[in-house]
Amino acid sequence: MDDALHEQLEQERLLNQVTTQIRQSLELSVILSTAVEQLRGFLQVDRLLIYQLGVPRPKISDPLEDLSSGAEDPELFDPPAAPSPEKPPPLLGNITYEARSSDTILSLLEWREIDRCFSETSEYQEYYRRGSIRCIADVEAYYRSCPCLLEMLRQKQVRAKLVAPIIVQAELWGLLIAHQCGQPREWKNSEQKFLKKITEHLSIAIYQAQLYAQVQQQKHTLEKRVKDRTQALHDALLAAQCANRAKSEFLATMSHELRTPLTHVIGISSTLLRLYGQSGTTRTLPVEKQVNYLQTIHDSGEHLLALINDILDLSQVEAGKTVLKISEFSLSKLINQTLHTFRDRAKQRNVHLAGDIPIRPECDRFIADHRRVRQILLNLLSNAIKFTPENGRVTLRVWVENKTAIFQVEDTGIGIPEEQQPLLFEKFQQLDSPYRRQYGGTGLGLALTKQLVELHGGTIEFTSVVNKGTTFTVHIPAQPLVKKNPYKTSLQTDYTESPQGRLVVIEDDEETATLICELLTAAGYQVVWLMDGVTALRSIELLQPDAILVDLYLPGQNGYDIIRHLREETTADPLKIIALTTTEAERERSLTAGADGCINKPILPNQLLNQIEKLGFGKPAQNTEG
Ligand code: ADP
Repeated sequence: MDDALHEQLEQERLLNQVTTQIRQSLELSVILSTAVEQLRGFLQVDRLLIYQLGVPRPKISDPLEDLSSGAEDPELFDPPAAPSPEKPPPLLGNITYEARSSDTILSLLEWREIDRCFSETSEYQEYYRRGSIRCIADVEAYYRSCPCLLEMLRQKQVRAKLVAPIIVQAELWGLLIAHQCGQPREWKNSEQKFLKKITEHLSIAIYQAQLYAQVQQQKHTLEKRVKDRTQALHDALLAAQCANRAKSEFLATMSHELRTPLTHVIGISSTLLRLYGQSGTTRTLPVEKQVNYLQTIHDSGEHLLALINDILDLSQVEAGKTVLKISEFSLSKLINQTLHTFRDRAKQRNVHLAGDIPIRPECDRFIADHRRVRQILLNLLSNAIKFTPENGRVTLRVWVENKTAIFQVEDTGIGIPEEQQPLLFEKFQQLDSPYRRQYGGTGLGLALTKQLVELHGGTIEFTSVVNKGTTFTVHIPAQPLVKKNPYKTSLQTDYTESPQGRLVVIEDDEETATLICELLTAAGYQVVWLMDGVTALRSIELLQPDAILVDLYLPGQNGYDIIRHLREETTADPLKIIALTTTEAERERSLTAGADGCINKPILPNQLLNQIEKLGFGKPAQNTEG
């Protein structure tokens, strides 16, 4: 009686200890290892084990369900077994906690073969899943018919065993196993009941710890989310600040770039107006000075136009409004023309400019947007010359490989520091260099160049070494030749086209030019008058007119050469050219050179307007006939 009472008290005491532990700690490992130790002492067994199976995580109603997905802690949650409504497949497990009476008892921690011997069928798990206890007084007798299992138990010194399942949320989580090693043992009823009770408490502790870990995991995920979101906001803020700074810098550069030529135009023209604007003025400037002034006004205007063209070009390309005008042209001719454009500038800066065209004649014809490819080369060459000091070299190269034209612009200039290279193709980025103030520029050229290359499906890359030089390499694949679009889609005409069209008149005779300009302006056309044949080609390149009217006898250059030159530049969607002729012979010669039509001098207003209208690039707003 006494013994039974004492045992009862001991059981109560131990149970109390375990439940207190469970209440006090959320650390499952502490709870389980203490329980194993205490229970072994209480039952006076040689070995007490916890065999843990992979268990599906507990199902709880979870407002943050989406956050917890994929956030398992492998320490606590094994992945759920493949779903099978009838019979879940056996889960593998291992011994995770152990208490031994002495070191002579073999440790079974991390012993995995257990599954091989027990789980040939999932029967044993089924048995425990139902909550049943296994109580074996002597394995020698019990497993006599299972020699493999018996042999394994002998090896592990097991003679008697008492096993109770730990069931968490209706799932078999693991087993609590007591081993008697030396001799058989008759397990008392009270011991069996007690083991069962302990497993029930452990189940609660495990479930509680799982929930706690899950909450921790969610907390961790939320914290990480908050951190990531904060970082993203911070990055976005930095990017916005950067963009803002780049914009401010761009505005500062642009206002400098725009203001300088405008100051020249306004300052010098007002000086001239002051001197010559009033009748009866007696002061005059020497002719040389006047020419100098006018040249500055002209150069400033050209510079402004180039700048504005770049800005508009870029915005059009970015808005996806640019359509390539595909035509066939000669690569070697393009290179020579481009080199020609820069010949004087290179000479002025004492930079040696050379071309290298290792092209086989059969590869010389190429299909792309001639004007855009030329624009790409102009940008690269202009930078190369700008950033190459005196006595340096700039080489423009082109060759063809697999239907791709490869252009290379190599200079022996200042180079680009490595840390600044990633910014090179960014808009509005002028690289910070000691030379930055020394050179003009808006930081748009390369951004536009890259976009134009990419419009062709090509690539642009560069290599650069500071103080040694830079080489840009552009790959442009040959484009499929499409039928000419009857509608004008050219970017330049899209945004600069006046409804009636834009015309350039190249005429050195002031009276004729004035008449033409007045008639056409009154008819709604936009007209630019150029007097000089020598600079006409460059101005046309900048102005991008729809048509030109050209006199045949100009100082410095004859009109036929201008016509021929313009005709050779591109074959698709050509510029309309009208020659101003006086004889039939001139007429024929101009048409042979490539003019679209001729207008006889002296100019007859109706004939002029009809002829221009016939070109069909725009309809005059007003009818000036009669
Ligand atoms: P920008 O109109 O200012 O020249 P770009 O976009 O053409 O604008 O060039 C951007 C910057 O890249 C230049 O300001 C210059 O710092 C650098 N850069 C471009 N080409 C070269 C080159 N060939 N050598 C050295 N630096 C160059």
